[in-house]
Amino acid sequence: SKKAVLGPLVGAVDQGTSSTRFLVFNSKTAELLSHHQVEIKQEFPREGWVEQDPKEILHSVYECIEKTCEKLGQLNIDISNIKAIGVSNQRETTVVWDKITGEPLYNAVVWLDLRTQSTVESLSKRIPGNNNFVKSKTGLPLSTYFSAVKLRWLLDNVRKVQKAVEEKRALFGTIDSWLIWSLTGGVNGGVHCTDVTNASRTMLFNIHSLEWDKQLCEFFGIPMEILPNVRSSSEIYGLMCLGDQSAALVGQMCFQIGQAKNTYGTGCFLLCNTGHKCVFSDHGLLTTVAYKLGRDKPVYYALEGSVAIAGAVIRWLRDNLGIIKTSEEIEKLAKEVGTSYGCYFVPAFSGLYAPYWEPSARGIICGLTQFTNKCHIAFAALEAVCFQTREILDAMNRDCGIPLSHLQVDGGMTSNKILMQLQADILYIPVVKPSMPETTALGAAMAAGAAEGVGVWSLEPEDLSAVTMERFEPQINAEESEIRYSTWKKAVMKSMGWVT
Ligand code: ADP
Repeated sequence: SKKAVLGPLVGAVDQGTSSTRFLVFNSKTAELLSHHQVEIKQEFPREGWVEQDPKEILHSVYECIEKTCEKLGQLNIDISNIKAIGVSNQRETTVVWDKITGEPLYNAVVWLDLRTQSTVESLSKRIPGNNNFVKSKTGLPLSTYFSAVKLRWLLDNVRKVQKAVEEKRALFGTIDSWLIWSLTGGVNGGVHCTDVTNASRTMLFNIHSLEWDKQLCEFFGIPMEILPNVRSSSEIYGLMCLGDQSAALVGQMCFQIGQAKNTYGTGCFLLCNTGHKCVFSDHGLLTTVAYKLGRDKPVYYALEGSVAIAGAVIRWLRDNLGIIKTSEEIEKLAKEVGTSYGCYFVPAFSGLYAPYWEPSARGIICGLTQFTNKCHIAFAALEAVCFQTREILDAMNRDCGIPLSHLQVDGGMTSNKILMQLQADILYIPVVKPSMPETTALGAAMAAGAAEGVGVWSLEPEDLSAVTMERFEPQINAEESEIRYSTWKKAVMKSMGWVT
């Protein structure tokens, strides 16, 4: 059969917390041609612990690539047109593996994992100089969220990891490093690297000099020889990569200062481009590397508001309470009632991230009456995602000084129309969603396609005019929105101080 004629194609591996995807785009039109998705298991071996199997993650990538190529074949598209593959990945999640055998030495410790709470407490007592030591270098608060403490835990508690470090066989990486090392040859000369965006989430990386920081490595007791080489977000490594939230920022074309996007996946991440300048937050936001699209290109920074639990609360209602069978069903339940009937759900399963950074918080459902049913709880769960976003948007507006006029959104949850409408109501600004929702993968594909030596994608705005948007305008009045929001804040206060 005759093959269809197309421009050069670019693939993207999007390895998220919930699932892995492989997608193929036409580099001329940014059109999504085909994709495949596989859900990833999460293990909860103890309360607060969250692990994934690095080999399952790797195999899910192979499976997605194979299936997508099969689908392209069925569409008569020649896969030899794929000129580059980008990687975007869940950030912070920590893997240590043996470079001689290629075997992971422990499960991946997922970003949501809380086992390092006592490590964080004891480290915070030893911070040298002023309390700003970690934040001024990394843009991050000392928290269980970031890789350095997860790696510290592995070095302290896993004999196999200790032994491999002693024998100089150990390699550390976030998911991007693990995948790229494996995909570029693994034990047969795999490339051990990461990009600036992923490195900026380890708490070991100096975001000013864009290098691993010797003092931080000493403070956390991390041997520097196990760290990957740090590269830009758009060059040929083998492959190219970006942390998922940075990829979404690129995929949403937020290239100008003040442009922002919010991604609703397992967690929720609002990033605002602050240009070449590191802006430090007074309101609980993180300073992080947005992207560096080429070895000789300048670095861009972002302010980030991170919410630990967003889509994860829907997964919890599905897997732990069983009140829905699929994530999509949440919309039907919420629609039946159209209100939470005074019920508030603070899903602080992993403590609270921005703007509170409160590890002692735990989830609560409050305001229950005899009348409350599962539909109200479903509604309250969706509302919780919107309230949490409102809190980080408020912080962002205070730090930036110029309030956002609208919110660009993406991620798995944005297919939920009730959620999007609620979000517009609670923020009281329009919510704008691209009709092609896979912006994280698109960003990774763009970074790969634009890399020097690939050159099939230009990051000029006219390339992107084809993107159509769906808009959600606020429908309730501002006063009602404020009342609901202030009740939410009362509920948040009740969730704090639960564990001591
Ligand atoms: P990640 O990138 O973190 O893997 P995704 O962007 O793939 O996440 O989004 C998956 C999350 O979105 C899951 O936690 C799932 O429960 C949630 N989700 C998916 N579809 C819906 C829906 N229709 N309504 C609400 N939540 C949804």
